[in-house]
Amino acid sequence: MSKKINSYNLGFPRIGENRELKFALEAYWGGKISFEELENTAAALRRRAYELQSGFDVVSANDFSYYDGMLDMMFHLGAIPLRFADISNSQARYFTMARGDETHTSLSMLKWFNTNYHYLVPELDEKSVFAPNADALKKAYDEACKFCKTPKINIIGPVTFLALSNGGLGLKDALFGKLLDAYEKLVCDIAGFADGVIIQIDEPIAVCEPDENVLSMLKTAYNRLPVAAKGAKIVVATYFDHAVEAANVLCDTPIWGITLDFVHGKENLQALKALDASGKTLIAGVIDGKNVWAADLDEKILLLEQISRDFDKNRLVVAPSCSLLHVPYSLKNESNIAAEVLSWLAFANEKAKEVELLSKIFFDKELSDKDKKSIEANKIAAHSRKTSQKTQNQSVISAAKLALDTASKRAESFEQRIVLQKKALNLPLLPTTTIGSFPQSANVRAVRKAFKDGVISKDEYEAKIKEFIKECVEFQDEIGLDVLVHGEFERNDMVEYFGELLEGVVVSQLGWVQSYGSRCVKPPIIYGSVQRKAPMTVEYAKYAQSLSKRWMKGMLTGPVTLLNWSFERDDITKEDICAELAVAVRDEVLDLEAAGIKIIQVDEAAFKEGYPLRSTKKKAYEEMALKCFWISTSAVKADTQIHTHMCYSVFDDIMDTVEAMDADVITIETAKAGNRLLGVFKKVGYGKEVGPGIYDIHSPRIPSVEEMRAQIDGILEVLPASKVWINPDCGLKTRKWEEVKASLINMVEAAKIARNKLS
Ligand code: GLN
Ligand code: ZN
Repeated sequence: MSKKINSYNLGFPRIGENRELKFALEAYWGGKISFEELENTAAALRRRAYELQSGFDVVSANDFSYYDGMLDMMFHLGAIPLRFADISNSQARYFTMARGDETHTSLSMLKWFNTNYHYLVPELDEKSVFAPNADALKKAYDEACKFCKTPKINIIGPVTFLALSNGGLGLKDALFGKLLDAYEKLVCDIAGFADGVIIQIDEPIAVCEPDENVLSMLKTAYNRLPVAAKGAKIVVATYFDHAVEAANVLCDTPIWGITLDFVHGKENLQALKALDASGKTLIAGVIDGKNVWAADLDEKILLLEQISRDFDKNRLVVAPSCSLLHVPYSLKNESNIAAEVLSWLAFANEKAKEVELLSKIFFDKELSDKDKKSIEANKIAAHSRKTSQKTQNQSVISAAKLALDTASKRAESFEQRIVLQKKALNLPLLPTTTIGSFPQSANVRAVRKAFKDGVISKDEYEAKIKEFIKECVEFQDEIGLDVLVHGEFERNDMVEYFGELLEGVVVSQLGWVQSYGSRCVKPPIIYGSVQRKAPMTVEYAKYAQSLSKRWMKGMLTGPVTLLNWSFERDDITKEDICAELAVAVRDEVLDLEAAGIKIIQVDEAAFKEGYPLRSTKKKAYEEMALKCFWISTSAVKADTQIHTHMCYSVFDDIMDTVEAMDADVITIETAKAGNRLLGVFKKVGYGKEVGPGIYDIHSPRIPSVEEMRAQIDGILEVLPASKVWINPDCGLKTRKWEEVKASLINMVEAAKIARNKLS
């Protein structure tokens, strides 16, 4: 009989403390290092990760990836799309599937459930065949055995794999049988080289309100796989929300254990009795794996005790709620964050310690002096977080509450407003504009860096930024755009910029989280009561407006996007946090208006991705999002025009909410989705003005006048000309100036031609 497992990790970040993987990958892609050198970096990162996870009884052997775990899974299954079959070198094939090359477009990428991580989408069709191969898993396992007690193997489960593929569950009849055969072979091979190993099979699809179809697939799969896996122990992993329905089904299958998320899915408590009766092992996710807060250990012990009232403690294991991939690596080198706030935080490294400590306390293991000190520190931090003025600023709390209680659309209807706005703005038909940012050239970045590093003074910095603004405004004026922007040169990122300016928010130095491949993001951390210390954008907006007779558009990030792209505090509701952000944005909107800015864009690029995974929670999210957008934007005068921008193309299911936001103009990303999306606007009778992006800024291609004219004609077939704006489909910051210049000149020309034809 093997020793009981007390603690378990679902996965660890692979990017490295200082983003070593990112830099090594980019050097390899750039031809600067060999694959062998890349491999060496990777091996060192894995070794470090094992060290940092030494407190866990069970850790993953193969949570490392050169790009993405879903892509790795395609290789384990041999699910390689035919269009990559011509690439014989396996590394080249791997990275081409991820990144594309001259002759292959890459696999597409989508968000991994409700995180900011992106996975590569498996490309399957009815004829797909699989060629499972466990060699890479064996290699990872053999390596892990040298460094840790009980390594396990992680794979993504068949139901999730199929559901997230391009064909989705529509391919079930054609493929599910074949896919299960492949999984059977894979787990059988794993059991062959790793006797008695735990195979963690991730099925997060189970938390997305599983329908009968998904439940029956889970049932079939997990009746078969444990049998094929002989002596291996199958753990089905679920996370990000509750999986009560799936847990009830899985009770009756021969799996060994299940992981349930008790942080983001308290409803999982309802699954305990049945699971207990079935004799399964429960890996209880009690430490938040996707947010950055230090756990209050006393509270977590209470939660574990609550769980153990319905579930045998002898089969209970302590774990984070999901892979720690979704939090930054370590707090060790953070010197920017005030000591008090720092004590409230835990990144992956610190979370590993928390799980270790928690399992020691809960299972009555002996505590070292160091453990006792950590427990003491934890109590002090938890107390300070609950009582600090930073989290309990009464004036901020009351202002947000009042704003929520009185949140409403603007006083005048859109129909009334638009008449006044047209009169005040006097814009031509089919007005042209851009989404806000202009190229962030090396020069622009160098200036920001010089300021950040203290090489140039604030005055010098501002003077430089104003030079960029001037050049940008003059260009827009010259080519005849109708509504101008200042270009956002002072912003490294649309969320981080405001994160740095708002009180109650902090931007870490090294808090990077993998977004995809070598790309990382550093979400600001909302730790306390949020308030605006001073106007944040007014100075540059005023300056930009002073340079031109045309209208300058003020540019802000909306409260919902600020919330969704940050690590948000978990001690008050999301609605309360969002309302505080909304009040800050509102104050900025009003200051811009008072400074003579008549058009203000409040970007909600992340509005859609904040939707919860379960539809029962959708209404509450929409209510919060609407109220907060209204708080931000509804206090302006009727003739001030509010724009919003959203960066995606699937609106079908949220059209009513978009309409209810009550923005006068919405600019969206349609260049690729084309008229299909516009059809949705027509179908629901969207009444306000729309700027369907007429060209795709994600590509360096310069669209011709002809092409954009045709695009405009297509738009005018669906939407009335009086309501259409002409613009690119997103900000231009990632493009080169020469591309932007040529494209915008063509865009303005295309709009002119279309305008002339209409009049
Ligand atoms: N205003 C921002 C920009 O132009 C919007 C970015 C976005 O939609 N992601 O860069
Ligand atoms: Zn966008």
